[in-house]
Amino acid sequence: MPKELPVLKPRYDCSKCPGYCCSYDYIIVTKRDVKRLGKRFGLTPEDAEKKFTKVIDGYGRVLKHRKDTIYKSTCRFFHPTKRHCTVYEHRPNVCREYPDGRHCGYYDFLSWERKHQQDEDFIPLPR
Ligand code: SF4
Ligand code: SF4
Repeated sequence: MPKELPVLKPRYDCSKCPGYCCSYDYIIVTKRDVKRLGKRFGLTPEDAEKKFTKVIDGYGRVLKHRKDTIYKSTCRFFHPTKRHCTVYEHRPNVCREYPDGRHCGYYDFLSWERKHQQDEDFIPLPR
């Protein structure tokens, strides 16, 4: 009988992060993602597509953004003060898969800066 592999805990904590990944400009959505988001708000896929998404040359269909208090802008579903996703159960697949491993590059950067600045709330802004 093969030994069960231990489940390794992630080395990042989204509750301590201001949500950098949700500030990414190109959060790509599929038809299925749009349908799921539409269901969340009682909208048809067509209406959800129009309301929540736009098409960017070279990327395809992505989630719309809105102005943010920390980053230039974030996904329209990101709560600007509570700093979390407001559609977590219905979020697109790409958001479910990120960061695809035990480490999040931004969280590593954030933790390093906070340690060196001796400020656990410090928010470095990527250039
Ligand atoms: S950038 Fe990393 S740590 Fe921050 S919310 Fe996204 S996945 Fe979590
Ligand atoms: S849908 Fe949620 S998890 Fe995905 S980018 Fe928007 S706020 Fe972030």
